[in-house]
Amino acid sequence: MSVDIVCVGFGPAMGGFLTTLSRSLVKEDGTPVVESATAPGLPPQVICYERGDDVGFGVSGVVTPGRSLKASFPQFDPAQVPMAAPVGVEHIAYLLDPIGASRRSFALRTGDTMLKALQWALPVKHHAFELPWAPAFLQKHGGYVLSMGQFMQWVGAQVMGAGTVQVWPSTPVASALVEDNKVVGVRLMDQGTDKHGRPADGFTPGMDIRAALTVIGDGPVGAIGRQLDETFGLPAGQHQHEWAVGMKLVVDLPPGVDLAPGTVFHTFGFPEPEIFGFMYVHPGNIASLGIFVPSWFDSPMRTAYRYLQHWIQHPYLWRYLDGGTLRSWGAKTLGESGRRGEPHLAGDGYARIGEGSGSTNVLTGSGVDEAWATGTMLAEGVLVLLRASQPFTKENLENAYVARRRASWVDRESIVAEKSRDGFQRGVVTGLIGMGLTGLTGGRLSLWGKPLPPHKRLPSIEEYYRGRVTNDEIARLRTECQAKGISLHSALMDRVGWPAIAFDGKLLVSQQDALLMGGKVQAPSGYADHVVFLYPNVCEQCGIKTCIEVCSGQAIMPGERGVPAFDREKCIHCGACQWNCTQELPDGSGRTNLDFRAGPGGLHSAEN
Ligand SMILES: Cc1cc2nc3c(=O)[nH]c(=O)nc-3n(C[C@H](O)[C@H](O)[C@H](O)COP(=O)(O)OP(=O)(O)OC[C@H]3O[C@@H](n4cnc5c(N)ncnc54)[C@H](O)[C@@H]3O)c2cc1C
Ligand code: SF4
Ligand code: SF4
Repeated sequence: MSVDIVCVGFGPAMGGFLTTLSRSLVKEDGTPVVESATAPGLPPQVICYERGDDVGFGVSGVVTPGRSLKASFPQFDPAQVPMAAPVGVEHIAYLLDPIGASRRSFALRTGDTMLKALQWALPVKHHAFELPWAPAFLQKHGGYVLSMGQFMQWVGAQVMGAGTVQVWPSTPVASALVEDNKVVGVRLMDQGTDKHGRPADGFTPGMDIRAALTVIGDGPVGAIGRQLDETFGLPAGQHQHEWAVGMKLVVDLPPGVDLAPGTVFHTFGFPEPEIFGFMYVHPGNIASLGIFVPSWFDSPMRTAYRYLQHWIQHPYLWRYLDGGTLRSWGAKTLGESGRRGEPHLAGDGYARIGEGSGSTNVLTGSGVDEAWATGTMLAEGVLVLLRASQPFTKENLENAYVARRRASWVDRESIVAEKSRDGFQRGVVTGLIGMGLTGLTGGRLSLWGKPLPPHKRLPSIEEYYRGRVTNDEIARLRTECQAKGISLHSALMDRVGWPAIAFDGKLLVSQQDALLMGGKVQAPSGYADHVVFLYPNVCEQCGIKTCIEVCSGQAIMPGERGVPAFDREKCIHCGACQWNCTQELPDGSGRTNLDFRAGPGGLHSAEN
């Protein structure tokens, strides 16, 4: 099949692209502004494929300044979108450790002792020190608290209502079609295969969709963006070593909690000093809350789920959450390399937008606004080229799109943010000082640190627990967990003093219940597995097996002969496993032994 423009992924970036494009393809009298090259007489044929089972099934915060959203919808009324509210009071709190189980440096422990000693004079309450004000660079005042899922459903209805573009959910793109260094379209996933991708009952090969322009907005873990990075390489000096796994809950707050819609909380310091948290209040006494486990948290037991449960029970948050009920749950990777992760933004026949194109601002923690803006900038450029009957060559796309981006606030602010997090490579206190320095000096000052991928920085489990758990005990716990077919992190966290979670069946639920009650996870049959252990013999030898410990859905579990087993029916497509494999392939590509490919299914909730 041939169309004029084919798009991969329907996240905020593609929302910006298609909103802008769809409004300008026909004149008021219904005739095309320009004629389609593939369907003469009609406007350009634009089709977007989204892998999630419906529009808005992704995961995000969101509190956003919303500058680009307001530019696209000047009359935007938050009352039109479920769960949307203008940003109200913004709190930032440093959480002390009320349990005594987190791994705190000497500097941090000294600081904690001083805070406790001075609590009569300082705003220290509920085991937390609330900053008297939110630094300007972190404020989202004038913006919105949204559910990205609800917002994207609203955007999807507007875009498709325009009648000029199509969005097809439940349709993963398997690969980009590359011919003579030019992208000429995409190939959809084969259907009717076994889990290894071999033809089975009802086999239907994935269709090829050829197009003059392929727009890739498949986010931070998208297989198509990564395919292009491998094919064309990253620009010199660029890397994508920084990311975080974000895991969140949407909760009905208990009756009697009186938090105004739009209230924003950001936390740091607990459950581990490296883990950041957020809670945003929506209308209807609903809150979105969650944590980020960053790439520079040097623990091989970097499980988000167990930490999330400890975080919500911190007294600073539990005073609002105790008695609440889980509505929705999910996780996703956040690309945090920012401008340094920027790939080639355009080439012959293709353009990149959104987080996968390095748009997320790592200083302000803002991704949606920037992703949307890159989509609108590409649409403006594409319209110029269409009207001038110019082909989508690298040169034309650089003039029409990349130049717009270079002149935009997205680029200006990403330059300020570029080195803001480097200090975290040397510790959390250095990191916070570095971020503050960068934010307060507009990017003129920062602290040095070299971002490294996990396979170059993660210590072994034995090294991480040295002095707290003996190697013999780790070996015993590992054998016990393997025999039960479960991951190791819970046993080790229990061992170093984290209390057992008292499940209440409402908000404190097991990881499996979170999949069913919160994620409502599904996986259609007849597709190949999208998580592949490339060299099983490397897994056999791998002692750390971070892929199992980090898995957000318990979809990767101990398997036979030391090779992990993957269960597609539990996978929520967060992409955490891809970033966390610690075994680099020897081919110098920087790739690891775990391949995260395109696939269908996953979360079934549009509230995340
Ligand atoms: C827990 C969490 C909290 C966050 N909080 C905030 C916040 O408060 N404020 C903020 O501004 N940002 C926040 N972010 C970041 C924000 O979500 C991202 O910056 C933003 O979603 C990026 O938009 P995008 O369109 O580039 O990519 P995505 O939102 O990742 O969208 C990409 C889309 O492509 C689809 N896709 C991927 N591969 C394929 C394929 N092969 N075929 C078809 N479709 C495919 C995906 O399913 C997805 O729908 C948060 C992120 C997380 C994970
Ligand atoms: S996928 Fe990577 S981390 Fe997991 S067992 Fe294999 S080599 Fe180890
Ligand atoms: S297997 Fe699925 S749920 Fe588990 S880490 Fe990988 S993408 Fe996330």
